[in-house]
Amino acid sequence: MDCIFCKIINGDIPSTKVYEDEWVYAFKDINPMAPVHILVIPKEHICCANAVNAENSHYVARIFEAIPKIAADAGLENGYRIISNCGPDADQTVLHLHFHILGGKKLYSQLV
Ligand code: 5GP
Ligand code: ZN
Repeated sequence: MDCIFCKIINGDIPSTKVYEDEWVYAFKDINPMAPVHILVIPKEHICCANAVNAENSHYVARIFEAIPKIAADAGLENGYRIISNCGPDADQTVLHLHFHILGGKKLYSQLV
């Protein structure tokens, strides 16, 4: 499958890993939008939030179990934002479900 994030999980494309377990892989975004910008992805190819279902939703649960550890390791004790873009109107550019963790500075409540 021609998916950049599947290739990153497999090690075919290099990444700066910050966390990994049986279900979850997390790495630094190549184009950071904040002092800390980490992408957290399931190790199974799920295209986006629309493709989450009863068979694969445990990956999402594992991701959210991992996020507090990832955030603590990144020094985000003062908080952080989680974003997941789904589909063209959200400008999703990589069609493998991912959660952006953004932090390391004060983020304001402007979401759009
Ligand atoms: P989206 O717009 O789909 O929500 O976010 C995709 C993110 O993946 C972007 O923030 C982009 O910088 C990041 N990205 C795309 N290709 C690569 C890559 O090859 N390596 C890393 N580390 N990040 C990538
Ligand atoms: Zn993929």
